[in-house]
Amino acid sequence: MTLSSVVIVGAGQAGFQVAASLRQGGFTGKIRLIGDEQGLPYQRPPLSKAYMLGKIKADNLAFRPASFFDQQEIELIQDKAAIIDRQNQRIVLESEKALQYEHLVLATGAHNRPLSIPGEHLEGVFGIKTLSDANALAPRVKEAKNVVVIGCGFIGLEFAAVAAAQGANVQVIDRGDRPMARAISPEMSALFLKSHESWGVKFHFNQAVDQIIGENGKVVGVEKVNGETISADLVVYGIGVIPNIALAMEAGLEIENGIKVDAHLLTNDPHISAIGDVACFPCVHNRGIHTRIESVPNAMEQARAVSARLLGNAAPFAATPWFWTDQGDLKLQIVGLSTGFDTTVTLGSMESKQFSVLCFRKDHLVAVESCNRPGDHLAGKKLLSRPAVLTPREAREPGFDLKAWELAHRT
Ligand code: FAD
Repeated sequence: MTLSSVVIVGAGQAGFQVAASLRQGGFTGKIRLIGDEQGLPYQRPPLSKAYMLGKIKADNLAFRPASFFDQQEIELIQDKAAIIDRQNQRIVLESEKALQYEHLVLATGAHNRPLSIPGEHLEGVFGIKTLSDANALAPRVKEAKNVVVIGCGFIGLEFAAVAAAQGANVQVIDRGDRPMARAISPEMSALFLKSHESWGVKFHFNQAVDQIIGENGKVVGVEKVNGETISADLVVYGIGVIPNIALAMEAGLEIENGIKVDAHLLTNDPHISAIGDVACFPCVHNRGIHTRIESVPNAMEQARAVSARLLGNAAPFAATPWFWTDQGDLKLQIVGLSTGFDTTVTLGSMESKQFSVLCFRKDHLVAVESCNRPGDHLAGKKLLSRPAVLTPREAREPGFDLKAWELAHRT
């Protein structure tokens, strides 16, 4: 069946990509891309890194200039989708305008998990999700003397590195016991901990914040659950995200830690797909368990998969997940999911900051984490996209080289 109209809700990484891929694949029907943020669709990763450091200008964040949308006949609608009328295949916008769809793609992303503690709305307390968040925060970082970061995940630590580089005293508080504990191995956490400490960042692990303290409406510190207070003129939090499911839920779509989709990224309504941060899909790299992945590569690959299906080339989604983070002079790339591994083998050295961790589950390679070793990352990507063969025993051989091994074992 040839489609004549696709409506996409959410003009972020995934929504933009599905529109662009549809046109690239020869789709000639109507494409309408609905986004509730101001301006052109833009990339988020630099917001907590190069953009926050002033190394990238706002104009360079847009995926494409305005002319691209005109030339490609992608109608960009700045509005909020309010209701999905599944029976009539219509989407109703906040402006009360209604759009008919033949196929609807939900790419609504996620919002920051709120702190939900007293003082969270004081002046000087920030999360980083949107360009306007970053624009409000960037000038404050330059002036800040004492910065408290709540949450020791990717975004919290990226920001901690930026604030330390700009001369602030930075303290990071986290309930967990090591950096990026949900996403990386203890070995790699150790390298990041040591490096951040060398930049002057101080960590408070296994601790929670009870309240943010203010004076005249402005933040002056945080109080930890143990009663200790830390002075702060700037507080930034990054304690995870919550998928934007309200629209889908109200329309009766199946929800499971996000919008539940099948291996083809279809919801329980055959006219509606969901992709990106909001989609919870059966992940072949996680033993088929329904999984939600928050990353640019995942958003882009899922967008391409849905676009291909809508153009008549359906295939189950099986892209190997990968991630990256930049903190100071550390570039960490992760391929695979490093959860549920039982054995690790390390390559390189922490001292040189060129260090990789191979993660195995039952002798099968499940993830490669590489810091400043892009060759290992590329080799890991290739190895994880085909049946597993590398064993921990081989990886422990003296002089083992992942790139050479991958090359020698190409099928
Ligand atoms: P988003 O890009 O968040 O887009 C969703 C869009 O939908 C938003 O604009 C939202 O406002 C809009 N929307 C929601 N509901 C509606 C509605 N009802 N109507 C209209 N519009 C709606 N990933 C990496 O891989 N590497 C990184 O280094 C990295 N760094 C990051 C740094 C920061 C500061 C942030 C915030 C994220 C970072 N990420 C990174 C994560 C990455 O940006 C996301 O995984 C990716 O943007 C997900 O794409 P998405 O399209 O699913 O969601």
